Amino acid sequence: AAPADAEYDVVVIGGGPAGLATGYHLSRARADYVILDGQRAPGGFWDRSWSGYWDSLRLISPAEHSSLPGSWMPTETGQELPSAGHVAEYLAAYERRYELPVRRPVTVTGVRRAEGALEVVGSTGTWRARHVVSATGTWRRPHTPDHPGRDLFEGRQLHTADYRGPEEFAGRRVVVVGGGNSAAQLLADLAEVAHTTWVARRPVRFLPDHVDGRVLFDEAARYAEGAGPGRGAARLGDIVMVPSVRRARDRGVLVARPMFERFTRTGVVWADGSELEADAVLWCTGFRPALDHLAPLELFDADGRIPVDGNRSVREPRLHLVGYGDWTGAASDTLVGAGRTAGAAVARIIEDLRGGRPH
Ligand code: FAD
Repeated sequence: AAPADAEYDVVVIGGGPAGLATGYHLSRARADYVILDGQRAPGGFWDRSWSGYWDSLRLISPAEHSSLPGSWMPTETGQELPSAGHVAEYLAAYERRYELPVRRPVTVTGVRRAEGALEVVGSTGTWRARHVVSATGTWRRPHTPDHPGRDLFEGRQLHTADYRGPEEFAGRRVVVVGGGNSAAQLLADLAEVAHTTWVARRPVRFLPDHVDGRVLFDEAARYAEGAGPGRGAARLGDIVMVPSVRRARDRGVLVARPMFERFTRTGVVWADGSELEADAVLWCTGFRPALDHLAPLELFDADGRIPVDGNRSVREPRLHLVGYGDWTGAASDTLVGAGRTAGAAVARIIEDLRGGRPH
């Protein structure tokens, strides 16, 4: 094999919020590390030039409840919930402020075992590391469930990750699938210009108007402490009544039907035989962890996850996972949750590097 270009105690893969929070803790512990990020600009998902999110996207909790460790996200003048652009600016400033060593763009294609280290293979080189933190998020792996007749439907099908705004759907009949916050927000966005129908597998649960996303994140943390990781995820499905969603409710469009039974060529059919013609179906059905680069380590279980103890792979203890969901730390796929889990992961890494002495 070609010699590695550099050797570090820790290589962090991914420079979004989870990777930056990991970097913050590693810098404080004076670890020798580098962050490799696939994007040209800072911010991970919040960098619009990469993820292409829609105009109306906002956080579901106020700035002070959406901060990474070390420095608060400033409030955005006149806004209760920060806009996505504001989050991107905060993350870019965060990276500069702590002088986090991010190399970009570097896309990591594989992590493999080598003599005495893990080897991280990227688009611009190879790095050796005593520990690897994977913080690649989920945006690169949109999930669309299989559904009877899906290939039959001649209209357009797209996922949250493809949605750029309502304009192209003006006057069209759009079915929005999903019972979470993205579905509710995109439905609200589309309903301004299109004929929308909302469907969800389970009854949709709305939070009271005065309650924002922070209760979901706190709830997830409480569940994780009390009942083990994974129990908080169900609560995170609850919908936060951000202003656009409230407006949609007031206009009567926020009513979900059960999931349809199958597609037809021109629309969808429910179990009771009722039919609906549609021009497009928007799948707001979530994401899966972007973990392809870890395939060479052969750690996946049948669900496509890597068994972990805390954040650490059970079968490869030099590998740590940050930011993929409750299974890698309570609400770890949110800004506050990623910060918390990053701290826990780094504490274990530093303990290990120092030969078992606590951080
Ligand atoms: P990302 O932000 O996705 O960053 C991952 C980084 O890793 C990217 O820069 C990517 O390029 C890089 N990467 C991926 N694969 C590789 C590779 N192989 N090699 C190199 N680099 C790689 N969270 C909240 O706290 N509040 C909210 O209100 C909120 N709203 C959301 C709304 C939507 C529509 C979505 C999709 C998410 C929302 N989130 C929210 C969650 C959001 O995912 C987190 O805020 C956060 O962006 C996740 O951080 P991350 O670093 O894990 O992943």
